[in-house]
Amino acid sequence: MRHFAIVGSGPAGFYTAEALAKAYGDQARIDILDRYPVPYGLIRFGVAPDHQSLKAVSKRYDKVTDEPGVDFIGNVTIGGDVSVEELLALYDGVILAIGAPHDRKLGIPGEDLPGVVGSAEFVGWYNGHPDFADLDPPLDGTHAAVIGNGNVALDCARILSKTQREFEGSDIVGHALQALESSAIRTVTILGRRGPHQIAMTPKELGELGHLEESSPVVEAADFPPVEADDALEPGHRKSINILREFAATPPDASKPKRLVFDFFAKPVRVEGDGKVERIVVERTELDENGAARGTGERYEIKASLVISAIGYSTPQMDGVPYDERGGKFQNKGGLIADRLYAVGWARRGPTGTIGTNRPDGYEVAEQVAAAMPAGSGNDREGATGLKRLLAERGVMATDYDDWRKIEETEVGRARPGSPREKFVRVEEWLSALGR
Ligand code: NAP
Repeated sequence: MRHFAIVGSGPAGFYTAEALAKAYGDQARIDILDRYPVPYGLIRFGVAPDHQSLKAVSKRYDKVTDEPGVDFIGNVTIGGDVSVEELLALYDGVILAIGAPHDRKLGIPGEDLPGVVGSAEFVGWYNGHPDFADLDPPLDGTHAAVIGNGNVALDCARILSKTQREFEGSDIVGHALQALESSAIRTVTILGRRGPHQIAMTPKELGELGHLEESSPVVEAADFPPVEADDALEPGHRKSINILREFAATPPDASKPKRLVFDFFAKPVRVEGDGKVERIVVERTELDENGAARGTGERYEIKASLVISAIGYSTPQMDGVPYDERGGKFQNKGGLIADRLYAVGWARRGPTGTIGTNRPDGYEVAEQVAAAMPAGSGNDREGATGLKRLLAERGVMATDYDDWRKIEETEVGRARPGSPREKFVRVEEWLSALGR
């Protein structure tokens, strides 16, 4: 019998568990660990609450834990309660699937002013992540800026622009819904340091901005290259550019009071304000011969009392695990970090790709694991038995999948009308739902 520990219960963790379960059948026990008492990682805390169809993938993950050899062990911090080294002593293989939950820094003056938040913080706030439940982002000004031209920037800008009615059917947490209801923000500027052709936004997500109840997109036609240049684009990307071109060709809807302004070729230089953010200074850019942003020296200010930087994420470091500073992920070769230690998902490749990208990624790493540790072989490692003993000795109140089902039932039971659930946002609340 082989014992595997997968650290992290987001998409990468679950797809790897699924792949290992298939590869080993009843020849392995697979434990999916998470620092929170509840599973799903990015699906619960990252995917936008108004994108419930994406969140529904968790139903598939439930099926993985239905497999006899697969278990969930929650409320356990690896690198805190238990070290990676200890896990390696207990398990045949350890697979780090911890994602990339940290915001990359902008590296510009003023970015630590109150009112400047990272997208991981802001997204965590509206999605009920316990670390960010108290973020309380300033929504009392009329202008906000979102830095970055990826899908996370779109998520943040859209959430800031929606009406209460548009959140119906979502599981946005109560504290965020309430705060957004009294938000004074009327203009959200989305800042891209390069041009429309360089966006990392996908068509479906971009298209949503054209159908908001109270907000209208504003795009400058002059920012685009000649339309013939679109022919060279990959079809999906061309679709996104077409949507942007349509926005540029359509005057903003005068009946809508809010605006979503795309400001391209605008590189943040400095954040300014008296004790809190009031404006962001940007430099006009142009593309250099390699397609990178080159400053032109022309600077201007954008009013903003909330700045969200959505410029990508990084994986946190863990004791004893070699780290790739530049890539913001674990050093690895095709997933292998060191003997019996692997990385999958964003911790392996860096923070790009959709939820589905993690499936082939997880299968690929599982294949490597199976090749290095064939089914039918094995030794005397204790796996979950040893881990649970260690956790009990250390007073860690671990949760299992049945516990999660109970928490889920309680969250569903306290949902506001039309919403799938009202999430608990603190570890103590989850545990008290279990009577602990
Ligand atoms: P991303 O797609 O990598 O986009 C990051 C953006 O930040 C890029 O536009 C980048 O511009 C910009 N940027 C980076 N450093 C910057 C700086 N110093 N100053 C200004 N701009 C800077 O990352 P993401 O939006 O965080 O998304 C992560 C992954 O999750 C992506 O694969 C995304 O598609 C996926 N996702 C999918 C969905 C969905 O499918 N609904 C939702 C959310 C996220 P440059 O190109 O110039 O570097």
